[in-house]
Amino acid sequence: MQRKKLVEVKDLKIHFKIGGSQYVKAADGISFDIYQGETFGLVGESGCGKSTTGRTMIGLYTPTSGEIRYDGKDVHRMPGKERRQLTRKMQMIFQDPYASLNPRMDVAEIIGEGLYLNGLASGSERLKRVYELLGMVGLSKEHANRFPHEFSGGQRQRIGIARALAVDPEFIIADEPISALDVSVQAQVVNLLKNLQKERKLTYLFIAHDLAMVKHVSDRIGVMYLGNMMELADSEQLYKDPKHPYTQALLSAIPLPDPDVEQTRERILLEGDVPSPINPPSGCVFRTRCPVAKPVCAAEKPVWREVAPSHFAACHLYS
Ligand code: SF4
Repeated sequence: MQRKKLVEVKDLKIHFKIGGSQYVKAADGISFDIYQGETFGLVGESGCGKSTTGRTMIGLYTPTSGEIRYDGKDVHRMPGKERRQLTRKMQMIFQDPYASLNPRMDVAEIIGEGLYLNGLASGSERLKRVYELLGMVGLSKEHANRFPHEFSGGQRQRIGIARALAVDPEFIIADEPISALDVSVQAQVVNLLKNLQKERKLTYLFIAHDLAMVKHVSDRIGVMYLGNMMELADSEQLYKDPKHPYTQALLSAIPLPDPDVEQTRERILLEGDVPSPINPPSGCVFRTRCPVAKPVCAAEKPVWREVAPSHFAACHLYS
């Protein structure tokens, strides 16, 4: 059966002017699709542009060029009314559940705000819906009158999830939703997101800074580096047969459960820091840290191509 593309990102550039003729290139021509009902993992080191991409998809930033299509329609060129309706369909869960919740509002107000603003429920109907949403995320109605500081990090993230679900969205951008949580709580929040996805037929963009975190969550994964997409494949395929030297290095850093294999396997250590997105390297942006770079890598930007069925990479090793 043909899968439906819910989100299409086409040659997206997000450049921020920072004075004179200098720009920060948060995204520099990335393309990917997200199919309805899947979880697409977007991974990369801090500063690679993944969060800015997510925020642009939901309309918090305007693209410099390129397109973001939702259900076939260009998100940034929609008439106001349609755009407002779309805001309901796309919701976001943030990394820091504490900073993203208003400390002066109680939980009922935080979760009910979207219902109120969108005219979806008022008075006792709204409170009833808030109780339902609290139940959905594993909290109870006794929590409704408490304030964010009275909760643990995991509970606060559950409140953030309930707030996102309040307006009955189709697509959720989860921006590092478990990075700030204790390891013991991370699995609980991931399981909650997975169960909600099944029950409510949600589509996710799951943003994370390491591949270990998205491994069990994502159907497909895109790997970003310095505003560029390096590789994109089915999750299992990416772990089994990474094509791009950057993905290979990221995967080699994930500890393995078998101590014998862990001791003997080879780690690819990346030298140096990620270069500045204001002045990225010429050609392949990864070349200054790539262990197998060739002269052509400095001269020409590698073309994004299909290197195996439904497996894409941008690297001169595959030209
Ligand atoms: Fe390394 Fe060159 Fe491939 Fe870039 S294009 S990842 S520098 S081999």
